[in-house]
Amino acid sequence: MPPCIFCKIIVGELPSTKVYEDDEVLAFLDIKPINPGHTLVIPKKHFENIHDMPDALVAKVAVAAKKIADAMLNIGVKGVNVGMNNGAHAGQIIFHAHVHVMPRYGKDSFSLWVGKEYDGNEREEAAAKIRQALNP
Ligand code: 5GP
Ligand code: ZN
Repeated sequence: MPPCIFCKIIVGELPSTKVYEDDEVLAFLDIKPINPGHTLVIPKKHFENIHDMPDALVAKVAVAAKKIADAMLNIGVKGVNVGMNNGAHAGQIIFHAHVHVMPRYGKDSFSLWVGKEYDGNEREEAAAKIRQALNP
């Protein structure tokens, strides 16, 4: 197993700029922010991504992300994107689960996805597949 950068940050082997910490969660600034203050919220225990995490820990990380997002609004941030990349195909680069909390000011370096139209039955089929996977 290759050494995990975020696990090294947790134990202090690598430096980070911390903004929040509790028993199970650490939050520190992303080294390449979309805007100053862009924060990563991570579980202290190593999990590759959201799929591997126990639900209770997902909740703890989500609540910490909200706390940080709320705090950002109190210091003049205009809006906050909260997001998580899970898997290489979803753009995950660091394989220690993390939630991005990104301060926004309207037009800046971050761009949201561009939606496409559904063809024919595509929408119903997609929903049916997800419902089936949820209730096999
Ligand atoms: P993702 O895996 O969701 O694509 O993004 C990983 C994020 O981790 C990137 O935004 C990147 O800038 C950040 N990152 C990568 N290496 C380090 C590091 O050593 N320290 C910090 N603070 N952030 C990092
Ligand atoms: Zn790790």
